Amino acid sequence: MLNQKMRGYLASSHDTRMLDILCGLKDVHILSIERLDTTLITLEMDITKRQRKFCPTCSSLCVIKDRPVVIINDLPAFQFPVRLRLVKHRLRCPNAACPVTTFTLTDPRIAPRRSSTSTRCAKYLTRQVGNGVTISRLAAEIGCSWHTVNRSVTRFGAALLAADTQRVKKTVAMGLDEISFRKPVREARQWCTTVTGVDSYQLIDILPTREAAPVAAYLAHMPQAFHQTVRYGTLDMSALYSAIYSVALPHVTQVVDPFHVVQCANRSLDEVRRRVQAATWGTRVKRSAPLYRARRRLLTGEERLSPKARELLSSLLELGDPDGEVAFAHRIKEAIRDFYDRSLSYASAEALLDDVILHLSASAVSPEMRRLGRTLHTWKSRILAWHTCHFSNGKTEAANRTIKLMKRIGYGFTNFENFRVRALLFAGHPTWKLLDSIRID
Ligand SMILES: [Zn+2]
Repeated sequence: MLNQKMRGYLASSHDTRMLDILCGLKDVHILSIERLDTTLITLEMDITKRQRKFCPTCSSLCVIKDRPVVIINDLPAFQFPVRLRLVKHRLRCPNAACPVTTFTLTDPRIAPRRSSTSTRCAKYLTRQVGNGVTISRLAAEIGCSWHTVNRSVTRFGAALLAADTQRVKKTVAMGLDEISFRKPVREARQWCTTVTGVDSYQLIDILPTREAAPVAAYLAHMPQAFHQTVRYGTLDMSALYSAIYSVALPHVTQVVDPFHVVQCANRSLDEVRRRVQAATWGTRVKRSAPLYRARRRLLTGEERLSPKARELLSSLLELGDPDGEVAFAHRIKEAIRDFYDRSLSYASAEALLDDVILHLSASAVSPEMRRLGRTLHTWKSRILAWHTCHFSNGKTEAANRTIKLMKRIGYGFTNFENFRVRALLFAGHPTWKLLDSIRID
């Protein structure tokens, strides 16, 4: 399927025109192709500028002074890394009064100024990072260093995100969560806040702080459309994020994420289990201790245990928990899980939660469980709010998990901005078709 133009090129038996077309870069002329060793192909090319070049300052007609060669990483061809040996034109301004003496012609369509990677290759790398491919794998594919790939990706990624003004989708529920960002050297852990669209499945942004003022200011400056649509805000039981919602988005209903409530109950249960275990079997972990053997079964949802496992659990509790403290904590945990039944009405859910809080306030209850009761009491309305919307921070947590995974595969980030750009490329749903029109000089 050749169009008229292509057929014209093929018909002309002239030189390497065909190669120029196959190379796919505009206004270049291939001088040579070399297979350096079994792993590398290099293309030597000349930027052919048909029009004459004028000085950018004084507009005098310039003359070519010399032709420096720069080596640029390009897209792999047939799975071989490719290098472009780009013959550039260094021009001299003949005007003695002009401050410009020499300048080098660059073509941003081929490669940005002072970049060792071609524009099309950098865009390909950026897209691949968005697909979740690791930097090190891309570096191997292109045949260059990790840092070269990372530099290109952050440069083009940042430009894409800046140009993508329509990226943040409408969402009814949003989430705030904290993640830690630690520099690889022995420096303090830096806490960041992730802002996510819960029902748009989108990482909206990562802020380099979890302080109230900047996070609230960020939310206050979200587009008007966002403020109009968002109705629910999910959070873990953090007073800080609750305060941020109250200040920046006062019309939003705060919903405590179910995952964190159950996690809190599990933590209290585990504390009771360890205390009782230490009191009867000593602080050194003995694998044979019945409560130690029961630790995983205690934290597993009851309905997910086989009848045999349930039987084993109750006999282990009988052996290791004489006062029934662990069994009580376990029943409370299961009651809290029952609370997150979608079929419960608001009124019956409230009755269930009140009942749990009442049980936990009894004087005979262990301090760990009483503390859990106090937490539930404090957050009661925001825990109950889940029954008005059934939204959870699950998607936020999913975004956090992907970020954690990304941090692991990227073995630590030294620079918050790089980290943010890569996280947003990966989970922020950028408008990829904009990438074609991104131009970096
Ligand atoms: Zn000049």
